[in-house]
Amino acid sequence: MIPIAKPCLDEREAEAVRRVILSGWITQGPEVAAFEREFAGSVGAPYACAVSNCTTALHLALLAAGVRPGDEVITVSHSYIATANSVRYCGGVPVFVDICADTYNINPDLVAAAISPKTKAILCVHQIGMPCDLARLVQFAESHALPLIEDAACAIGSEILWQGQWERIGKPHGDVACFSFHPRKVLSTGDGGMITTKHKDWDAKFRLWRQHSMSVPDTVRHGSNKVIFESYPEIGFNYRITDVQAAIGREQLKRLPELVSRRREMAARYCSLLAECANVSLPVEPEWARSNWQSYCIRLADASQQVPVMQALLDQGIASRRGIMCAHREPAYLKEVWRSAGPLTQSERAQEQCILLPLFHQLTGEEQRFVASRLCAVLAAGCGA
Ligand SMILES: *Cc1c(COP(=O)(O)O)cnc(C)c1O
Repeated sequence: MIPIAKPCLDEREAEAVRRVILSGWITQGPEVAAFEREFAGSVGAPYACAVSNCTTALHLALLAAGVRPGDEVITVSHSYIATANSVRYCGGVPVFVDICADTYNINPDLVAAAISPKTKAILCVHQIGMPCDLARLVQFAESHALPLIEDAACAIGSEILWQGQWERIGKPHGDVACFSFHPRKVLSTGDGGMITTKHKDWDAKFRLWRQHSMSVPDTVRHGSNKVIFESYPEIGFNYRITDVQAAIGREQLKRLPELVSRRREMAARYCSLLAECANVSLPVEPEWARSNWQSYCIRLADASQQVPVMQALLDQGIASRRGIMCAHREPAYLKEVWRSAGPLTQSERAQEQCILLPLFHQLTGEEQRFVASRLCAVLAAGCGA
């Protein structure tokens, strides 16, 4: 059986976990601080704050951007549901914009039509690791004095050409970027998240809010030779990540260049293996973007083939996933408040026509050839057509 994804963990991570367990400090302590420093260095961010996952990261980012009940946030429906949900956690109204047919990312041409007097922020997504058009979005956000939040859940190690230089996603190019370390992503700590920002005061808020808004952190009280009491100036959250997870993250971060270059090689291999395959379009990478290829997304000519093709692959031991979901089509959003800034045709089409193929560090060239040949054979047989 070839799975869709597999985390890349070995003795190095196991040894790091052992070190933490035996150290006597197992949550949000020195390992978290070191992970934050190393992560910030890796993406070139001035500040990085680790949290429990990317969903909580997005929640805090939107709160820092000032999103309050009734405020609108321009975003995409075509994303993992956590993107839209994070807006709802603040009582905000997601305003969905359609995507580009080729990159599956927010269509910058459609953003202006989504603006209203209630717009409070823009929440863009680097979907499946492919950078969205930040140059245009940053310019647009600045010209409207709106904060730009990047959902970079899948985009650790992805790069963008910025003023002539390749820069990692998460610098950040907007005001804040949020990352996920779930096992489906390129780096994994089991669960985990990171918020990078260019604003010192936002970073201070994230640190307060992630730990119940406790005025004096436990690490400080622990190290003090004077009695100190903490206070709670406002309502916070428990969005902590543990030192056990952070220790895994530090080892994972050391592997990042190798993980990304291997994924880029595998994406190029799929591209050449599938070049001659009928009725399928392959993903495109704009010349200003370098994806980490968190997922390899192909598009079928005919949506009616999606399930039969996926089933035929599964029958031959190959796992796949459908295209990225659309939040507005989920039952939860029948009851939630949202609006769209026009038809979401490309979003819906991408969900219905796309298939994500297996892509993970340990996948061999031979397995990739097997996946590609089975897929082409299934399509040539007119499966489901
Ligand atoms: C995975 C994902 C999230 C959620 O990340 P968690 O760490 O599971 O909370 C949010 N947005 C996008 C685009 C994702 O792919």
